[in-house]
Amino acid sequence: HDEEAAARAAAATADNGAPTIFDKIIAKEIPANIVYEDEKVLAFRDINPQAPVHVLVIPKVRDGLTELGKAEERHKDILGELMYAAKIVAEKEGIADGFRVVINSGPAGCQSVYHLHLHVLGGRQMKWPPG
Ligand code: IMP
Repeated sequence: HDEEAAARAAAATADNGAPTIFDKIIAKEIPANIVYEDEKVLAFRDINPQAPVHVLVIPKVRDGLTELGKAEERHKDILGELMYAAKIVAEKEGIADGFRVVINSGPAGCQSVYHLHLHVLGGRQMKWPPG
């Protein structure tokens, strides 16, 4: 049954505070195709792209920011840094005239990696609603 399978998959990937694969990417222990990097954020290509341009923007220090739904006051600065980095990525990728930024939060939001990340998608006509 589709709904049961989806619920099982979501439960299996709920936030448990454990390190994620993104820590290994930050530490350069596993390779990533890095598009942009500064002191606070790292942007690299999604391994399973959903558009011609699909870049993930993450904070280099997670600091409890596993998902947007758990953001706290102290995260406001890094949330701004991430949003601005998304715009820099869009410019670098030549899609600044039209692109989409997505944050999946929590199991019902279809999040699978519990280190907050922005998806920057573009290079094709995006549709609405996203589904
Ligand atoms: P989420 O579903 O919003 O949590 O997005 C997680 C994203 O991370 C998915 O789009 C995955 O394709 C992507 N991803 C998972 N592992 C890696 C990796 O090792 N390198 C790059 N992207 C990854």
